[in-house]
Amino acid sequence: MTINLFDAGIKFLLVIIFGIVSLKLKIVDFTGFLASLLVGGAIFIFGGWKWFVLILTFHIVAGLSTKYKYEEKRQKGVAEEKKGARAWQNVLANGSAAAFLAVVNGFIINDVLFAGYLGAVSTAIADTLATEIGLLSPKQPRSIVNLSKEVLSGTSGGVSLLGEIASILSAGLIGLLTYIIAAQNWNLQTALIISVVSGFFGSTFDSLLGATVQARYKCKVCGKNIEKKFHCEKHAIHLKGYSWIDNNMVNLLAVTFGSGVGILVFHLI
Ligand SMILES: [Zn+2]
Repeated sequence: MTINLFDAGIKFLLVIIFGIVSLKLKIVDFTGFLASLLVGGAIFIFGGWKWFVLILTFHIVAGLSTKYKYEEKRQKGVAEEKKGARAWQNVLANGSAAAFLAVVNGFIINDVLFAGYLGAVSTAIADTLATEIGLLSPKQPRSIVNLSKEVLSGTSGGVSLLGEIASILSAGLIGLLTYIIAAQNWNLQTALIISVVSGFFGSTFDSLLGATVQARYKCKVCGKNIEKKFHCEKHAIHLKGYSWIDNNMVNLLAVTFGSGVGILVFHLI
């Protein structure tokens, strides 16, 4: 494909504007802003506006869900840090599979690539909402690997009915939008099946990884079980999981998996 530089420039300018608004609204921090220029720019320029609308919808809905009842989540000790402003690792974890497929689509346009893209965006939104809405569940979440066992709110690998419902509805929203803007010549049923199935399996895969291989630590100072290497300004003790698999790595793997599910479902239906 030949890229029209003027057209690409206008698109990138729009991405910068959306980025600045997101930065002002504290949906991203400065590093997240820079990463979102990369992801958003690649998707808009190589995938086109319809692809961009879908990732933008994820970005807005994820941002709103993180802010939603933030104070309540903060008091429970389960809120995202920095008022929920996402850093570059989170943006790349959720957006790089999608950006990669968009760039490939710039050279070979193929329905399969879009199916993978839809799977990636559906997983990203399903997983984010499962967490952000699930945190507000009045019931204790249960471990995905042992549904009879209750776990602390905010624990990776914990699932709740409220979170699952939010997750499925949000993935369905991406499928519905795909149909409305006619991102592909697909009927509503195809778009919905791909988005909901990949969003469900992608976010479930995320929980499974979170419950099994994700690194867990114990703080030497306050004694809390945590998912980060540092706590109370000290190195924490490694309890279980692989030290290189943190929350963002789990997200990256899950979104890539969801993208594969999208492609598989596309072939099966
Ligand atoms: Zn601590």
